[in-house]
Amino acid sequence: MAVETKVVTRKVVREPHVRVTPPGPLATEYIARDEAVSSPSYTKVYPFVMDRGEGCFVWDVDGNRYLDFNAGIAVCTTGHSHPDVVRAIQAQAERFIHISSDFYHPLMVELAERLVKITPGDYEKRVFLCNSGTEAVEAAFKLARYMTRRPRVIAFLGSFHGRTMGSLSLTGSKSSHRHGFAPLVPGVTHAPYAYCYRCPINLTYPSCGIACVDFIEKMLFAKIVPSDEVAAIFVEPIQGEGGYVVPPPEWLPRLRELCDRHGILLVADEVQSGIGRTGKWFAVEHWGVVPDIVCVAKGIASGVPLGAMVARKDLVTWGPGAHGNTYGGNPLAAVAALETIRLVKEGLMENAAELGAYALERLRRMQGRHPSIGDVRGKGLMIGVELVKGDGEPAKELRDDVVLRAFRKGLLILGAGLNVVRIAPPLVIDRETLDLGLDIFEQALAEAEAL
Ligand code: PLP
Repeated sequence: MAVETKVVTRKVVREPHVRVTPPGPLATEYIARDEAVSSPSYTKVYPFVMDRGEGCFVWDVDGNRYLDFNAGIAVCTTGHSHPDVVRAIQAQAERFIHISSDFYHPLMVELAERLVKITPGDYEKRVFLCNSGTEAVEAAFKLARYMTRRPRVIAFLGSFHGRTMGSLSLTGSKSSHRHGFAPLVPGVTHAPYAYCYRCPINLTYPSCGIACVDFIEKMLFAKIVPSDEVAAIFVEPIQGEGGYVVPPPEWLPRLRELCDRHGILLVADEVQSGIGRTGKWFAVEHWGVVPDIVCVAKGIASGVPLGAMVARKDLVTWGPGAHGNTYGGNPLAAVAALETIRLVKEGLMENAAELGAYALERLRRMQGRHPSIGDVRGKGLMIGVELVKGDGEPAKELRDDVVLRAFRKGLLILGAGLNVVRIAPPLVIDRETLDLGLDIFEQALAEAEAL
């Protein structure tokens, strides 16, 4: 069987994609029906109603074609409906679709073996499989407390770890996520993240001496959080929902050192940044840091729900019944993940590194033409473009306008943080398609700036 690792989308048509102004008649009808029955808590940024997808392109129910620079929030690693992933799911569906995690099956074993190999750390590990990012984080939170018998954890301002009670307690990117849900899980303290472009403690890198790590020790540990009560520090190596924030080179190594000094576990939440997106299996590898626990989800199974917590074997001290679920290791998710991991290894990770560097360079040149681009940052195909006003303040309205205008022109992008546009296409993208999307982005930006 031919292995298709690179680009599924074979044709790039440089013509308007949006023939019916969205929402078209069918989209309008579905949106009305959705509003009648779905929870209003979902955030809908614009009226895109998906009909089908192929590679980096998606079609709405009215026949409009869009280039997808978002990949279902960094999920569709291999593009939409990669034929190898589809074939594997179809074949597995005919064998069996579910057997609960109370039993064994070969795919669950194979997936855990693969995850142990690709996660950082040359030591023995154990894998807990689940269905989403929030569950992977919950598992890590519970394991850290269980294993250390310490009641507290540290997370970061601007972080996003999920929305179930435990991970919501760690999440610190928008107070709207937390509003109305208190009391959350006790024992969580938030520290400033190394967001150097907009330093939360108003210092400047590198003269700050990475004061945000010292803050944990000199302020939190010294004044309100006894360090020997801290089980873990939860960190996104690159902050996702908080604005695609890339910390400076010293930051993660300094955090690792701090954890080691105090016997604290370092948990890397790689739910958005993992599985090749940044040009390495896991973003934390860019800094040569080895965490104790890694949380994985989103991009692992090309869109089939799957999460995983991978921990150092000696930490996984809990016994039968301490933690579990019904669907963990679901065979459809497992085959999708095994195919995704194979495709990432056979070319997509390299593609993400190469085209990510190219996109960063193009966006930095674009920054020279557009003063509203305050910062361009990222690793691989996880790129944030921060939009600012003349005085450097966050340009939220401009960002929202750019996202909407890009949509009307046939490009799906989403915001992150207050004023950042995130660029996270499927890793199967080729240079021509990437250029097409960046061209549309620049047109949308120019139009929005001209107002
Ligand atoms: N952790 C990170 C870093 C995320 O970006 C997300 C989702 O955006 C989550 C956890 C939660 O994942 P899920 O939505 O699958 O529960």
